[in-house]
Amino acid sequence: MTRNLQFDTAALTEQDHAHIIHPWIDLGQAKTQDLLIVAESEGAYIYDSDGHRMLDGMGGMWCVQIGYGRNEMAEAIAEQVRRMAYYSPFGKISTPPAIEFATRIAKYAPGDLKHVFFTTGGSTAVDSALRFVQFYFGFTGRPSKQHIITREYAYHGSTYLTASVSGKPADRAYLKFETETVHHLPVPNPYRRPEGMTEAEFCDKCVADLENKILELGPDNVACFIAEPLLASGGVIVPPKGYQRRTLEVCRKYGVLYISDEVVTGFGRLGEIFASEPVFDLVPDIITTAKGLTSGYVPLGAFLVSDRLYDAVTVPEAKGKYFTNGFTYSAHPVSCAAGLKNLDIIERENLCQHVRDIGPYFMKKFRELSDLPLVGDVRGSHLMLCLEFVKDKKTKEPMPAEWNFGNRIINETMPRGLLARPMGHLVVLSPPLIITKAQIDEAADALRGAIKAVTDSLMRDGLWQEKAA
Ligand code: PLP
Repeated sequence: MTRNLQFDTAALTEQDHAHIIHPWIDLGQAKTQDLLIVAESEGAYIYDSDGHRMLDGMGGMWCVQIGYGRNEMAEAIAEQVRRMAYYSPFGKISTPPAIEFATRIAKYAPGDLKHVFFTTGGSTAVDSALRFVQFYFGFTGRPSKQHIITREYAYHGSTYLTASVSGKPADRAYLKFETETVHHLPVPNPYRRPEGMTEAEFCDKCVADLENKILELGPDNVACFIAEPLLASGGVIVPPKGYQRRTLEVCRKYGVLYISDEVVTGFGRLGEIFASEPVFDLVPDIITTAKGLTSGYVPLGAFLVSDRLYDAVTVPEAKGKYFTNGFTYSAHPVSCAAGLKNLDIIERENLCQHVRDIGPYFMKKFRELSDLPLVGDVRGSHLMLCLEFVKDKKTKEPMPAEWNFGNRIINETMPRGLLARPMGHLVVLSPPLIITKAQIDEAADALRGAIKAVTDSLMRDGLWQEKAA
């Protein structure tokens, strides 16, 4: 399917090479490589600048929950721009959309997480949450509680502190990180658990990793544990069953706060507005959110904090003390208006229920690809999924990086009408929540065709051959 678009792809590419620095660009190819210029969009589809249509398997970047081209969203945004586009959120100044939106999302929050600090995106939400924790312990007379426990393969953002609490090894080249107060636990990835260990034993080990780290640092020195319920950008890693609840119990035992980073898992991706409690039986102290909060139409992030923590820093003795953290565009009125409209659509179209209904079909269709020789693991939940490709399924031997496997797959899925996200030897899918069964079939067929084509090319090049059973 194509659209007749009037873009000059070659000229745009030249200007992009000349002037744009992209996040996570391969710098060795930054000035020469072909680009995918996404020019139009509708429903669950995007169109490149040559008019070629693709199913948006990435959901933008885990975020376009309600799909593209929603007129009522455009109108809500335009209406707020006309009425009052911007005002400062600092101090005692507020705006109606921010008040209304905070009230609406607090109703969905678990436990007593009723206070919302708006930011500009996910990184600033996590960064602000971590700084709030620091402020909280300082203000309540426990300044030694400064250490943060996180996990390898976590991704929490791109500020200095959030990049420091992230743990993807490939993202660490040349940059400096906070190391004194940040501690990484091994990744709770069942697929790569030690040989001979059951999943239940692996869960015990991962929970013990946290407890041991708290004891090693001393509970009086540990501020918080931060965790995505499923590690999204680390490769949709689904920790062993019961892990989230049990790690919370360890935190409670030692007076360590629990931050559940729901920047990806929230707003319907796992079939709930906040997945922590309904999916993982977890009522944390803080939840961070962004992305699906506005379905990516405009930027916004937030952290939600419990009555218990917020009440402790809003006592009369706090007079003259400020939580000196915030952004010009915190609680941007246009973003909050978009957030309200996004929630209207999610509620009216029952999108969380749709995800709960269609999620098992999505997982099943892609799990069927496990019959292919290079597909090592297909994991995920609801509308978050990752395929891990391996050189040898039996030994789980990883693929050599130079095979550039994920990119090769995507180069084959795109002409077949699917855009998915390559990450080294992984391919990740997180489509808009409005995806239908027919579109899931379309995506699974495209991916199967692409894997077969890349496998054939590896065999042709003499790089891989199937071992006799
Ligand atoms: N936290 C998680 C779990 C994420 O996946 C991301 C981004 O992918 C972030 C935080 C950072 O969000 P942003 O890119 O909006 O700053």
